[in-house]
Amino acid sequence: MNPQQLFEKSKKYMWLPFTQMTDYERDPLIIESGDGVRLKDIYGNEYLDGNSSLWLNVHGHRKKEINDAIIKQLDTIAHSTLLGAANVPSILLAEKLIEIAPEPLSRVFYSDSGAESVEIAVKMAYQYWQNKGIKGKTKFVTLSNGYHGDTVGTMSIGSIEIYHKVYTSLLFDALVVPFPSVYHHESSDEQVVCQEGLQLLRDLFEEHHEEIAGMSVESMMQGAGGMNIMPKGYLKGVEALCREFDILLIVDEVATGFGRTGKMFAVEHEDVHPDIMTMAKGITGGYLPVAATLTTEKVYEAFYGEYEEMKTFFHGHSYTGNQLGCAAALANLEIFKNEKLVEQASQKAEYVKELLQEVKDLEHVGDIRQLGLMCGIELVKDCQTKEPFPWELRVGYQSTLKMRELGMITRPLGDVVVFMPPLAATFEELKDMVEILKQGIIWATTEYTK
Ligand code: PLP
Repeated sequence: MNPQQLFEKSKKYMWLPFTQMTDYERDPLIIESGDGVRLKDIYGNEYLDGNSSLWLNVHGHRKKEINDAIIKQLDTIAHSTLLGAANVPSILLAEKLIEIAPEPLSRVFYSDSGAESVEIAVKMAYQYWQNKGIKGKTKFVTLSNGYHGDTVGTMSIGSIEIYHKVYTSLLFDALVVPFPSVYHHESSDEQVVCQEGLQLLRDLFEEHHEEIAGMSVESMMQGAGGMNIMPKGYLKGVEALCREFDILLIVDEVATGFGRTGKMFAVEHEDVHPDIMTMAKGITGGYLPVAATLTTEKVYEAFYGEYEEMKTFFHGHSYTGNQLGCAAALANLEIFKNEKLVEQASQKAEYVKELLQEVKDLEHVGDIRQLGLMCGIELVKDCQTKEPFPWELRVGYQSTLKMRELGMITRPLGDVVVFMPPLAATFEELKDMVEILKQGIIWATTEYTK
């Protein structure tokens, strides 16, 4: 089938996620293959993958060890889910995940996507208190601009404005505290912003702790809500407040886990120990849909005992604990160990930081927020006043379209351009990517300020 026919069929039959289909029809992209950090479309154009697909292709594409592990597993069994039964790769993977996760996490519950892993965390935290007979603790606290997924439960405990606008009466209420964003605060003193943020949380907990089951936070850095970094000490402070007020701490490592921020998990930056932690994306190196919700023995024990219907945890899907996915994840973790990928990622992050200095100096770059290889570049009309571009200009989107034309794929979040290269990108590839990033930003900010 030729490219034009494929495009026509895609227009006729498909509906793409988070996409205005008119944008797709105007600027179509159909990926055919991938190799290392490069993607190729059906016309033969090559692109550097500056977004690790959707923040998950840690090693890029066609990593031999993962391909081999999947093929080997195919020869044994591809999939079986039997309620009340485990399978071999999922057991071996659970052990490895507990080895690398922060203490005292000790139990693994599998699922198929990041959103589901958080949905599970919410249901577990809710039911934990119910099982203990503390019936009033039913609410969740979240940070402004928090993103935990797009299912009804995760939209409810997240605070992405557009979701709440569109799906208003479908969602349940969460208690929202402001995210302590240094760039968007009138004080540029990190400690001031941190202390103010923690005081607001303390005030909320003092008033409502008897109703609060859990608090959910993205780990150290928010992703989809604008690539915002917590000030130093904030997450540790959140942990202390959760302990003081007997509230379960749910940390979402879906985007930040598996080396993305220069540590295996971002909680390690502040030695934080969640009650529940979620992971997905990089868990299989970006190959197959596996996610996991890890809990402590304290949480697990509230569900454990002789058969008692009310204590069963009511969750599980057709593909939960899929053998192919777990085999891919095991191979992925082996590569992390053999290639010392986390240490490498942290060295590469330093290099990217140096490269981004030149981008920082551009006229319309208001802020660059980077933790490891997770970067967001905020474009503004006026750097002095931080005045944004009129949203209808879609300057972020236009800059990423230009980047695509120049040979790199990445993604805008409004006027924040995301840069999340595969951890396996070489220094040279990173240099090429940052150059395209810069050119795309220069082009769009010049074009739209004429
Ligand atoms: N949590 C966070 C922090 C995320 O960034 C995402 C996705 O970007 C999710 C949850 C949802 O993950 P998924 O897209 O796999 O459902």
